[in-house]
Amino acid sequence: MTNQSLSPIFLSHGAPTAALQPGPAGAFWTELGKSLGKPKAILCISAHWNTREPVLGAAEHPKTIHDFYGFPEQFYRLSYPAPGAPALAQRASDILAAAGIPALLDSEYGLDHGAWVPLKFLFPDADVPVAQLSVQPLRDARWHYRLGAALKPLRDEGVLIFASGGATHNLRELNFAGGPPADWAVAFDEWLADALKDGRRDDLLDWETKAPNAHRAHPSPEHFLPLFVALGAAGEGATGERLYQGMSVGSLSMDAYRLAV
Ligand code: ZN
Repeated sequence: MTNQSLSPIFLSHGAPTAALQPGPAGAFWTELGKSLGKPKAILCISAHWNTREPVLGAAEHPKTIHDFYGFPEQFYRLSYPAPGAPALAQRASDILAAAGIPALLDSEYGLDHGAWVPLKFLFPDADVPVAQLSVQPLRDARWHYRLGAALKPLRDEGVLIFASGGATHNLRELNFAGGPPADWAVAFDEWLADALKDGRRDDLLDWETKAPNAHRAHPSPEHFLPLFVALGAAGEGATGERLYQGMSVGSLSMDAYRLAV
């Protein structure tokens, strides 16, 4: 396994419908998974687990959480039976504690759709153990960057830091009628791609004031904050390579990045 294969990944998981109708992003997820080989374990930071303080999922057999509403029944029959990674959860909690960040363990929480929908494509055999780490929407980008920076040593232990959220995420502005992507979403997406390509960390951390249409792209920050965990875990001076570019339903970016020094 090369070092690059364990570079943190930030991926936009799109709508839950991606589980059965992933569109072109699904083909990319499948190819990305092949390029990643088989990590020893995955630490997944999912936009869909929001807590006040960091919590790590420590279930031995995490259940598939169907945390979406009003979808056709077949979506609720999907499962992703990957083993849990309680030892990784404990290790991550110890590392965070040593960095002055207390984190709790939760032996009940399973895998939410921010984790299992893309993982189903990335690692279809569900044979890589997964532990989830929650997002703290009340805290800012710097906090999440600090979390990631603390967790960086896990990469040397064969752990893939996998951040699952959205490069843009405004559910009130989706357009199912077709047509070109919304200008404001494209502008935010391109700002993000450039800032990551150039490794402009401080601009990224100040995204709420530096990025165009920041609050339109993210009326709430939980889908964007996982990016900063991945960026922090990539290390000082990291840049982001855009691995996939796409816009679904008018303004929902499906972009994905590899963060590396
Ligand atoms: Zn989501």
